[in-house]
Amino acid sequence: MKVKIKQNILKFNTLRRIVQFLSFLFFSTIVFNLGALPILLPVLWTWGLQQKTVGDAFTALQLMLSGWYMQSAATVFPWLAVASFLIVGILIGKSLCGWVCPFGFIQDLVGFIKRKKMEISPETHGSMTYIKYFILGIVLLITLTFSASKLLGGYKSYAGALGIFAYAPFTALSPAETLFATLPRMVQNFAVAVMEKPVSEVLSGILYLSPLFWVQLFILIGILIFAVYVPRSWCKYFCPHGAIMAILNKFSFLGLRRDPVKCVKGKCRECVKACPMRVRILDLPWEKFSDPECIYCLKCVDECPNKAIKPTYP
Ligand code: SF4
Ligand code: SF4
Repeated sequence: MKVKIKQNILKFNTLRRIVQFLSFLFFSTIVFNLGALPILLPVLWTWGLQQKTVGDAFTALQLMLSGWYMQSAATVFPWLAVASFLIVGILIGKSLCGWVCPFGFIQDLVGFIKRKKMEISPETHGSMTYIKYFILGIVLLITLTFSASKLLGGYKSYAGALGIFAYAPFTALSPAETLFATLPRMVQNFAVAVMEKPVSEVLSGILYLSPLFWVQLFILIGILIFAVYVPRSWCKYFCPHGAIMAILNKFSFLGLRRDPVKCVKGKCRECVKACPMRVRILDLPWEKFSDPECIYCLKCVDECPNKAIKPTYP
């Protein structure tokens, strides 16, 4: 028993969970009471909180391109957001997804609810991984055409047609926005209203919530349920942040190395079974691999009985 506890403490994944938890606290500034820092990170977070330390780079990219903060018909190239993706991607690849992203952390937490996971065939899994690139493409298409309409004129009618999707099309429906900003705000308003009005009156107000809210809630619940059955399903299949980082991950200095002498390959496959992102570890070059899907959670490193896999840099 003692040995098992000691083994668990020494695992990368114990450290990773601590880092995920502390990052979550740091992001929301609830504990540290820090002011906003001028930092954009390529992780799925929210812009809707009053108190937060850092911003998420993809929302910043959409808002800057569409010129959201300017009343005039101007846009600006999103240097900061692009720099955030590039610098993080090249230096440490997709590891913020594994160690820092608040929505990744939530998926890991709900993943504990069910130990036995759903099997998705390799073909279906392979096809589904393209959905995130499709979502990224649609979001960029809307944002860039809106940006172009600002430069060429006629953006007001286009903005009217796009409605809430004009300035940050992905963020309008982002499950992180719903989970970390919309729902807490609603709970807070609800608590205040209950103190001031009769409960029946407050409850009847639920009927008048906007259709957009119900769509956001439906998406969030669907994604969380999916994450209970399929580890990191949002990250693997839907996240546009993950899509950008997957492209950059290939060029990352950070990677993993599998010692071909220690690895017994087909006889074991413990690393492949442990991987939440379904990376085909044993089919990749042993010298160094940085697969687009790998989030550097290091579960494969922990689970390898022969200690054959190790992180490598550069
Ligand atoms: S892929 Fe997952 S971990 Fe990475 S930014 Fe998206 S939600 Fe976060
Ligand atoms: S290959 Fe290893 S480090 Fe990468 S996602 Fe899979 S288990 Fe995590």
